[in-house]
Amino acid sequence: MHDFLTKEECFELLNKYGSPLYVYDEETLRQRCKEMTGLLPNKHLFVDYSVKANTNIRLLEMIKEEGLHVDAMSLGELASNKKAGFKSDEIIYVCNNITESEMREVLKEGVLLSVDSLSQLETYGKLNPGGDIIIRFNPGVGAGHHDKVITGGKKTKFGVQKEFIDDVKKVLKKYNLNLVGINQHIGSLFLDYNSYVEGVKNILEIATHFKGLKIIDLGGGFGVPYHGEDRLDLDKLSIELDKVLTEFLDKYDNKDVIFYIEPGRYIVCECGVLLGTVTSIKDNYDTKYLGCDIGFNVLMRPILYDSYHEIEILQRKPNNRKETYTVVGNICESGDILGKDRLLKKANVDDVVIVYNAGAYGYSMASNYNLRSRPAEVLITKDHKDILIRKRDTIESMMNYE
Ligand SMILES: *Cc1c(COP(=O)(O)O)cnc(C)c1O
Repeated sequence: MHDFLTKEECFELLNKYGSPLYVYDEETLRQRCKEMTGLLPNKHLFVDYSVKANTNIRLLEMIKEEGLHVDAMSLGELASNKKAGFKSDEIIYVCNNITESEMREVLKEGVLLSVDSLSQLETYGKLNPGGDIIIRFNPGVGAGHHDKVITGGKKTKFGVQKEFIDDVKKVLKKYNLNLVGINQHIGSLFLDYNSYVEGVKNILEIATHFKGLKIIDLGGGFGVPYHGEDRLDLDKLSIELDKVLTEFLDKYDNKDVIFYIEPGRYIVCECGVLLGTVTSIKDNYDTKYLGCDIGFNVLMRPILYDSYHEIEILQRKPNNRKETYTVVGNICESGDILGKDRLLKKANVDDVVIVYNAGAYGYSMASNYNLRSRPAEVLITKDHKDILIRKRDTIESMMNYE
């Protein structure tokens, strides 16, 4: 999936749009959407793309064309979803710790909310007695590639503990609320299908405590191989998941319940690469540094999660030599490291750095730290044309609110 751009095309794109630059491939994006919508052919399944992974509106439009729904976690994401053409009933607002006024705005849009505490359920009940609601549960187990992305289990802020099911029922009754669904999301980036299936069993157990649910949202977290691991086995996941869901449906009172999955990363990660420019090579005591213009304001995952991204050097003047570099950016912090001790092609100033699997949690986490611009984003269409889908920040745009 890394081959949608030739080396020459990378040089041309940087000439045309500037550096650094996010580039996305339409074909890969659509392929990943189809894999998710086709995951459970024998079950009533909706795929809710979790837009925090990448909120570019042009990408959202294509995701909509592929038949996915979306979730939103802020009014900004909700607005992006609307702009991309999603209707209110194709959006779920999966939020935590929001203000009453934010809740009111979401209700005005006619979008279904998922709340994740008894206290937020009370706030909702007071605002919208008799209304529809989804509740996020936390079955007490979590999974993920880093503590910061484990979103279920006893050590996270998310969801309602299953021991509080009776209290949930009391609040529902007090405000005459209609519980239309329950959800969970236990963490991000699993590559072993068993951990997901185990998590699903937990939410299904919780579902048996509520009659007539219309939606059971099984969560996201579907991983992609950043470091040459085996791909997630979707065929096996499909078979095992189908089995568990069939068993559940046999006993559940509403046979028309719709299952949701909520992939973020899986949809957008592999369609994106990040291009940058080599700006210096230097020896500092025992380390050879390759300096480039991709600071952690552009790609935050390495400094935030110690994440690994595959990096390659595209040489302007090809040779076969290799060198071990620590690849660093242009931010004035020592943690600004894109990759440590990487054996790469020997680089010269002006060569190009390409970072793979940059489509998820790349641009959406980018910032103006050090008052640097967030990069531009370009789409490579099916017929292999490049189009600008988001401009680079300008100095002016960054000063706008002062
Ligand atoms: C972030 C998030 C997702 C998506 O997670 P991925 O690991 O990107 O698939 C799904 N559901 C919720 C509630 C989330 O917060």
